[in-house]
Amino acid sequence: LLETKNLSKNFKQVQAVKDVSFGLDAGEVLSIIGPSGSGKSTLLKLIANLEQPTEGDIYISGQSIQSADKKTKRALYQSMGFIFQDFALFEHLTVKENLELAPKLVYKKNQDSISKETNRLLKLVGLEDKIDAYPITLSGGQKQRIAIARALATSPKILLFDEPTSALDVKSIDDLVDIILKLKKAQIGILIVTHDLRFAKLVSSRLLFMKNSSIIFSENIQNIENFEQIFDDFLK
Ligand code: ATP
Ligand code: MG
Repeated sequence: LLETKNLSKNFKQVQAVKDVSFGLDAGEVLSIIGPSGSGKSTLLKLIANLEQPTEGDIYISGQSIQSADKKTKRALYQSMGFIFQDFALFEHLTVKENLELAPKLVYKKNQDSISKETNRLLKLVGLEDKIDAYPITLSGGQKQRIAIARALATSPKILLFDEPTSALDVKSIDDLVDIILKLKKAQIGILIVTHDLRFAKLVSSRLLFMKNSSIIFSENIQNIENFEQIFDDFLK
């Protein structure tokens, strides 16, 4: 579904991402764990088109981003949804308006099918009753679930999360786990950057450990027995 090949990013003297290659399948949840400054957010930004790679390429469903024309590139990026750390909801719009903006503007779908999809997505994240609320009236966990619903409104195949649990209490984290497992079941490919080991254990199919800008270790979750030990060894 998603593949990076020898992806690198230099910021002047700093090599933030170095020769990173990995793949993400449909229905797979991949978590990237690593010390502060190891290049996790930069890697996610390269994939989300928020930064341009110095070297390497990204493939979506086998299609190269680098060699795609403008129109194809746009279509490829539209198959990805990014949930920002601060959720980035439009504060002056209601929940319904937040969810429906992109489907209306970008996809020019008709209002009937858009409304149906809004209701379905709010149900999925358990917030049907917040349809007319403004973001300022929502809790952090609720805002995040709206951000997820909004990302889903354009039917992405891939979802990217940067530190999704950093602003959440334990109950909200457990709600997020449930939602991610539902999306996994729906065959969405999910890439998560996180510091949260407990959360990573609950949702991931596979873990990538990143250190000094490179992936130094990758393992399926069921093969990782002494999780904490590995974490200590690799991340110190
Ligand atoms: P954290 O866990 O603290 O969020 P991270 O693994 O996400 O860290 P990145 O934010 O990807 O780390 O940063 C990797 C390296 O690249 C760091 O040395 C950082 O200072 C540098 N870096 C990131 N963005 C830029 C930028 N826009 N300009 C210059 N250097 C940058
Ligand atoms: Mg980061």
